[in-house]
Amino acid sequence: MNKSVASTEEINELLPQTQCKMCGYPNCLGYARGIIDDNASIDLCPPGGESTRVRLAAIMGVALSSERVLLPEPKKLFALIDEESCIGCTKCLVECPTDAIIGAKSRVHTTVEKWCTGCGLCVPVCPVDCIEIKDKSDSASNSLSSRTARQRYELHLQRLEKKHEDTFEQTYVTFDQGSKEEMRTIIEAVVARKNGNEDSGYKG
Ligand code: SF4
Ligand code: SF4
Repeated sequence: MNKSVASTEEINELLPQTQCKMCGYPNCLGYARGIIDDNASIDLCPPGGESTRVRLAAIMGVALSSERVLLPEPKKLFALIDEESCIGCTKCLVECPTDAIIGAKSRVHTTVEKWCTGCGLCVPVCPVDCIEIKDKSDSASNSLSSRTARQRYELHLQRLEKKHEDTFEQTYVTFDQGSKEEMRTIIEAVVARKNGNEDSGYKG
């Protein structure tokens, strides 16, 4: 048990909330618990980069060596689904912590870029290898804030608990951030792209 006065919640608040598991824990909250309960290293979060390490060190009272190798600051990333290759299996939909992927079973799926943290969890579950992680530095779409990413993850867990089968319905019904109309616009744009009508593309 760590003797720091910081709480698990205070530690979790400092983490990026991508839920990417790169730290070796099942999610950001798990890593926060690991730091408090198991003295886990504060160096284990690549999406947080050096700035998160510095904040964790401050709250945990850990002295950082001035000669340490700095962690790279994270890039803005997003998942791009090859709509021509997607078979609509829904495996990525279930895996995505922020419900950033929409689509119905046996129909093409697509990513809502503004909700995607680039965590990469959707990549290995795709049976036809049609998801690629891309740099979104040049994109007009902002990165998802850690606060919103966490809210979306908590709603994602609630949705999985309810075990609804129609994931597309649940995606747009569950979240205030995405209206039913916006979801339909995105799907219609994907269908239009598949039909060769690029002008109908969703730009959000
Ligand atoms: S964002 Fe950091 S703390 Fe959260 S799961 Fe990924 S590595 Fe762990
Ligand atoms: S779409 Fe993929 S990379 Fe983006 S948040 Fe969801 S699981 Fe992570």
